[in-house]
Amino acid sequence: MEKYDVLIIGSGMGGLVCADILGREGLSVCVVEKNKQIGGSLQTYARDKVIFDSGVHYLGGLEQGQNLYQIFKYIDIIDKMKLQRQDLDAFDKILVEGDDTEYAFAQGYENFISKLLIHFPDEKEALRTYCDKIKEVCSKFPLYNLRSTNNFDEKSDILEIDTKAYIDSITTNEKLRGVLGANNALYAGQADKTPLYVHALIVNSYIESSWKCVDGGSQIAKLISQNIKARGGKIIRDCEIKKIVEENGAVAYAEAADGRRFYATTFISNMHPVATFAMTDTPIIKNAYRNRLKSLENSTSAFTLNIVFKKYSFKYFKHNYYVGREGYVWTTAEHNEENWPLGYAMFCGASSKSEEYADGLSILAYMRYEEVAAWQDTFNTTSKVNDRGETYNEFKKRKAEVLLDAVERKFPGLRDCIKTYYVATPLSYRDYIGNEDGSLYGIVKDYKHTLKTFISPRTKLPNLFLTGQNLNLHGILGASMSGIVTCCAFLGNDDVITKIRNA
Ligand SMILES: Cc1cc2nc3c(=O)[nH]c(=O)nc-3n(C[C@H](O)[C@H](O)[C@H](O)COP(=O)(O)OP(=O)(O)OC[C@H]3O[C@@H](n4cnc5c(N)ncnc54)[C@H](O)[C@@H]3O)c2cc1C
Repeated sequence: MEKYDVLIIGSGMGGLVCADILGREGLSVCVVEKNKQIGGSLQTYARDKVIFDSGVHYLGGLEQGQNLYQIFKYIDIIDKMKLQRQDLDAFDKILVEGDDTEYAFAQGYENFISKLLIHFPDEKEALRTYCDKIKEVCSKFPLYNLRSTNNFDEKSDILEIDTKAYIDSITTNEKLRGVLGANNALYAGQADKTPLYVHALIVNSYIESSWKCVDGGSQIAKLISQNIKARGGKIIRDCEIKKIVEENGAVAYAEAADGRRFYATTFISNMHPVATFAMTDTPIIKNAYRNRLKSLENSTSAFTLNIVFKKYSFKYFKHNYYVGREGYVWTTAEHNEENWPLGYAMFCGASSKSEEYADGLSILAYMRYEEVAAWQDTFNTTSKVNDRGETYNEFKKRKAEVLLDAVERKFPGLRDCIKTYYVATPLSYRDYIGNEDGSLYGIVKDYKHTLKTFISPRTKLPNLFLTGQNLNLHGILGASMSGIVTCCAFLGNDDVITKIRNA
């Protein structure tokens, strides 16, 4: 019977970072992944030879010395990645229906302010106040700054600030208020809920520097997995864990759907915490705790239109678009059948084939799980194909055309460039990533209940740890930091942070 030092369930960003770091510490690691392709939201898929990302449209903090750069340097992937920097003067462009102006978010704080001042010349003070606050909030998160102390008191005074209320407090200019919150699809922002720290940690990383993965984000998973294997670690694909079995007060083994048992000294789950605890009937995890986790809201899901363009028909752009209706910035997910979509985001995949023309485009609009609940008993991935039926195809087609009508209002002629398109719905996210409601980013953070929405990497089972986006923060940066937090909890010290800082 093979027994590993550490068994990691799930090969998302958090799971892979844990496997890599612990392998470097000399431990034998094994990652078990339910899908054929590793990576969770790092997965890509090719349609008509065009690569589409599932969950890595752009990355921040990758300039030399910045936080994600240092993490990627430590895990030895940064020099092998194929990256493309986005426009320095516009990594995101904000468009408002009925307004022809393009509001650009530029890289670098001074550049960010000066580009917005073009449209808001009287708002210098507000913009400076905003940028200073973002930097101040970020400075209170030691790991984000690759400092090893984790003094909770340091950040206690900024955890309970509401993002929308804060933005509203710095200016009375309604347009600027809307523009500053307009890319909140990055964190599924909600009024009177999203804490300012979530907005700040994410927005800051893109203002510092903004990048696309050329030919898709799955390169991150591939590079990390090569490093894990080079140290003797194992990665087992297409193997779904169904049970986590406790004996004598600790996890003894994890059992797969096909009956295989994986023994280890320590187990790390990269699955959603609710899914993790549903796999064990141990009384050590109290029902009150399970119910508390179940009561936490998950972020919404999305409808994604992946367009394959006719050759040389659509000019590539090195920024992203966030398009919305005036007045709906913080309630974009509260659409109904008649007014959907209230907003959408557009991402051009960076391809090694051409920098002049795009071969594909992804358009994301919020969609709630309940909108596809009629087909919730179906399951469809490349591992387990199950046709969801004709009514589902009709639903996808109808929604795709409504979304395209909305996009055409801002980008007339786009339809003529389309060769074909493919659609992902909340069910695709559910089946490929494993969140039971297709949630994009996992557990929603709420400034009114900050402690309730901070999930510890430790569990009541002494050898079971959690990792991934549900812990601290989502995103590639957030899930990487969660991986580090989990390793520090498991190793009992935070030396690894020093190693990353000094890499
Ligand atoms: C549409 C979308 C767009 C995004 N865009 C960006 C972006 O542009 N930039 C950015 O930084 N972030 C983005 N994100 C967020 C980011 O991709 C995620 O926060 C991050 O990748 C999550 O990592 P994770 O460690 O939580 O693992 P996950 O990606 O959640 O992966 C979990 C893994 O566990 C596996 N698993 C689940 N159950 C089992 C089981 N029973 N047995 C075995 N394996 C199992 C899953 O198959 C999966 O591989 C986006 C996410 C989405 C969905």
